[in-house]
Amino acid sequence: MIVLGLETSCDETAAALVDGERRILAHRLLSQHDAHRPYGGVVPEIAARAHLDHLDRLVGETLDEAGVTLADLDAVAATGGPGLIGGVIVGVMTAKALALAGGRPFVAVNHLEAHALTARLSDDVAFPFLLLLVSGGHCQLLAVRGVGAYRRLGTTIDDAAGECFDKVAKMMGLGHPGGPALERAAEGGDPDRFALPRPMRGRPGCDVSFSGLKTAARQVLDRLPPGPLSVRDRADLAAGVQAAVADVLEDRTGRAMTLMAADGGTGDSPTLVVAGGVAANRTLRARLGGLCAARGWTFVAPPLALCTDNAAMVAWAGLERLRLGLTDALDFRPRPRWPLDPDAPKRPGAGV
Ligand code: ATP
Ligand code: MG
Ligand code: FE
Repeated sequence: MIVLGLETSCDETAAALVDGERRILAHRLLSQHDAHRPYGGVVPEIAARAHLDHLDRLVGETLDEAGVTLADLDAVAATGGPGLIGGVIVGVMTAKALALAGGRPFVAVNHLEAHALTARLSDDVAFPFLLLLVSGGHCQLLAVRGVGAYRRLGTTIDDAAGECFDKVAKMMGLGHPGGPALERAAEGGDPDRFALPRPMRGRPGCDVSFSGLKTAARQVLDRLPPGPLSVRDRADLAAGVQAAVADVLEDRTGRAMTLMAADGGTGDSPTLVVAGGVAANRTLRARLGGLCAARGWTFVAPPLALCTDNAAMVAWAGLERLRLGLTDALDFRPRPRWPLDPDAPKRPGAGV
């Protein structure tokens, strides 16, 4: 079984082929970071045009590299949302056209489900598992019982963790995207020099909050001498923010583990999976690994390149859905908003 996957929901244009043996046959990824850097964030119109300019070529290169034709495909999958609508439309229209031309099924993949199922491509992970989904736009703890079966245990009440990294990095003049830049800047820094809050730590439930941390970082910057940050100040503040985010996520994930175990939802081998762009952060990975080791849980973190946006995860989620017969009609409408758990309460924390 071979599935072609396309990713265009944000600022990565990507195409990949995966097979039923969990092999990535070929993949291409073009990051638009340089195009957005002057603006300090992703500009939707620039992103959509860049996807349109490059996607066809990346698909062609991917198929050529693997020596695969449309006739060899079992399905064509694309991120159908959530994401920036212009980009999602480009990916969905391209995938529908290829599916139609090849006489193959089309699968609309939820981008968050693609992040969520990545660990089943990279590692031997069975359902159920606990998922910490930490990305640029989302920060959620979910009990994953199967494809399409997600129960939300906690979410952010304001910013996502990636958003916090990106905004603090921007304030510090570290550039875009902020998460990787902040991680690099934090090397050798003293995480305890500046007193930063740990929002929500120790509170009931599993929700998180990061806007207070962002404000606290702003206040630290305001107290430092004006002008460019010294190397020392930059490293200490970056390390402090990174440690605060890791502390909060470790605490909240620990609570979710307790909750999931208490209602018998972990199955025989309790497993924590971390996914999404922020899962590439080494400090966070180490903390979560330690938490799991202490509790006898298995910890799975996909390779860094599969944590940030890519098309292999979309192809894989498409393949998992195809196996279950979950294909989509060619009149599928792109969904800029598309929660993984449609029944979840609108308000964070309610009903947990
Ligand atoms: P979503 O998946 O919620 O729709 P997105 O697709 O934009 O959002 P991803 O590509 O999954 O998000 O992740 C990007 C985010 O991950 C950015 O906020 C980026 O700063 C952050 N990030 C990437 N690498 C790292 C890292 N090493 N440390 C911390 N954050 C990181
Ligand atoms: Mg991106
Ligand atoms: Fe993403």
